[in-house]
Formats: sequence, C-alpha cells, structure tokens
Amino acid sequence: MEAWVEQLQNSVNTLERLKKIINVTPEEEATINTLHTKWGTTPYFASLMDPDDPNCPIRRQVIPSMKETENKYGMHDYLIWKENRDVGEVRPDCIARQYHDRIAFTVTDVCANYCRHCFRKELVVDRDLKLRFDFEEGIEWITDHREIRDILITGGDPFILSDERIEYLIRKLRDIPHIEMIRFGTRTPIVLPHRITDDFKKILSDYHRVPIWVNTQCNHPKEITEQTAKAVYDLLSCGVNVGNQAVLLKGINDDVETFRKLHQKLLTVRIRPYYVFYCEPAPGIDHFRTPVEKGAELIRDALRGHTTGLAQPMYVIATNIGKIPLMPDYYIVDKNEKEYTLKNYQGIYTTIPNIPE
Ligand code: SF4
Repeated sequence: MEAWVEQLQNSVNTLERLKKIINVTPEEEATINTLHTKWGTTPYFASLMDPDDPNCPIRRQVIPSMKETENKYGMHDYLIWKENRDVGEVRPDCIARQYHDRIAFTVTDVCANYCRHCFRKELVVDRDLKLRFDFEEGIEWITDHREIRDILITGGDPFILSDERIEYLIRKLRDIPHIEMIRFGTRTPIVLPHRITDDFKKILSDYHRVPIWVNTQCNHPKEITEQTAKAVYDLLSCGVNVGNQAVLLKGINDDVETFRKLHQKLLTVRIRPYYVFYCEPAPGIDHFRTPVEKGAELIRDALRGHTTGLAQPMYVIATNIGKIPLMPDYYIVDKNEKEYTLKNYQGIYTTIPNIPE
C-alpha cells in the first residue's frame, strides 16, 4: 500500500490512537468524548505535536476544543453567504463564484487534517452543510462559461482524491479552450507530504499550455520539516509552483517572532508566501480570531524591511465580495506639490520628488 494511503487509513482520529502520541489532558479527553465533530490528522502530522504542551500550535489546530461550541461573532450559514450560494446566478453545488473570470471548483469534503479553524467548518468539520461534488456538472458549467480563465480546485483537500480522479480532472479542464491556469488548494505538502509520489509527479509533470499552481496552508514554523522540503521540491521539479496561504491564528502565529520565522522558514523549503488570511467569521472559531488590524501590524513589525521581499505575503480578508487587502499603509507620511515624505520600517524619513501627471 502506498505510504500516503496508509497515513490516511491510520488517521489519528480516536482517543486511543491520540493517547499513543501525546499525553491527552482531561479537558481534551472530555471534549473528544462530548463533541460530535469530525477531527483527526495523519500520524505524520500528529508526530509533530508536543506530547506535553496542550498549547502546542499543531495540537491546537488538530484537537477539538469546547470553545468551538461558543459562537459570539461567527455568522450562521457562513459558507452560503461567503460563496454567494443563495444569490445571483444558479450554479452547480461544486462551483463557488466571487469574480468574473475565476471560480472555485469544490471537489471533495475529505481532508487529511481537519483543521479546527477551518472556514469551511460547516461543510468539512461539522458537516451540517451537504454539497454535491459532481465533476461532470462542474466541467460542463465551466465549458459553458467562456469568461472563466482560471480554476481553483478546492475541497476539503483535492489531493486526497486518487491519482486517476485528479488526472481525469486536469485532463478535462485542460481540454477547455478558455482555461489558462489551474490552481489547487491543498494542505498535503504540510500534513501529508507522502502524497507527492512518483506516479503523481508523472501526472503533474511536463510542459503544458495550462500550468498548475499549488497553494498550501502552513501556519507555524513547526509544521515545516525535511519531508515538506522534499515534497515541495518534487512539485517544483514537475513545473508546479508552490505558495502558502497562512491563516492568522490567535495564540498560534500572531506574535512578531513566530510570524517572521514562519515566513522565513517557508522560503527555506522553496514555498513562496502568498497570502495571510484574516481568520474568517465562520461559526465556532471565535477563539482563533484576532482584531482585523493584527495582520497588518505583523506585516509592518515582523516582515517589511525586517526580512527579504520574497517573504512578504499579502494580508487579506476573504468575503462574499472577494478578497479585501488589509496591508499596512504607514509609508506615505505626507505629500505636497513638490515632494512625498516616506517612512521606512525603522521610522526613518526620506523624501522623493512629486512628479506631476
Ligand atoms: S485542509 Fe483546508 S478544507 Fe480541510 S479542514 Fe483544513 S482548512 Fe479546512
């Protein structure tokens, strides 16, 4: 059996299995026994958890918390609102749209790691929302909409599908003349790096008119290992670029040191920081959310000027009307007819001429 399939079959999703890896606290045990929620991770990702620290950043992303039953700020039917599922044009369940020329194609609700902060919680973790994942319906809709040039294949985690299913999907999408690029959103390089097998590489490899881009999700430097590096290198060797979409998570990566280390370490394994997402107002994840300004402060205080420009993601909030950038804007201090006054990351001022239009 392939290692990645074995990892999934041995998912750490029972107390018994969890207890073999970490010292489960009474609170964690009570939560697991009480909450009816989908949880679990791969043995590989579980092995990165601190056995003795319940605040371990990986542990907090994997093990359910009673705080998930609190919901002061989360929106009910969040995903319906966020993905415009009850307004505008009629689309198949698998197609979510916020833009004119690109869509998200949802192909599964299965994941290797059931992230406790998931904004698709209603679909993936709580499973109150049921959608039909019909490849044919999706492909037909995309074929009929010639304005669509860019497809994001998402889930759940689309790389959990079999090689055959993924190959079929890529082939069908590449056959559509107006498709210019295919993106996958997958956490497998982080939680299941074994997924990037030689056979899978053959499916992704080669020169194609329609390139494949991968964006993964890594939220803490502890999640990056030698195996991550190998999986990313293998993807790059197939012509697939790998970016990161971190989620800003309270108590996990919302301090300057961790935030900087995360973005620096991503580059050491060739992952390009792409986005940092504000933790969305989905229900039951209040405890992961910071004030909105926090991400911009971290970009200002941890990254800009403090480390290479390659390590600078865009901080955004994803909404029903698309992503809204929330970047810090401290740098233009003043402007007059003659010049701009600019400030750098150290608080030092300089001026440049104001060129009239
Ligand atoms: S891998 Fe993505 S879809 Fe799956 S639980 Fe995590 S955040 Fe949600």
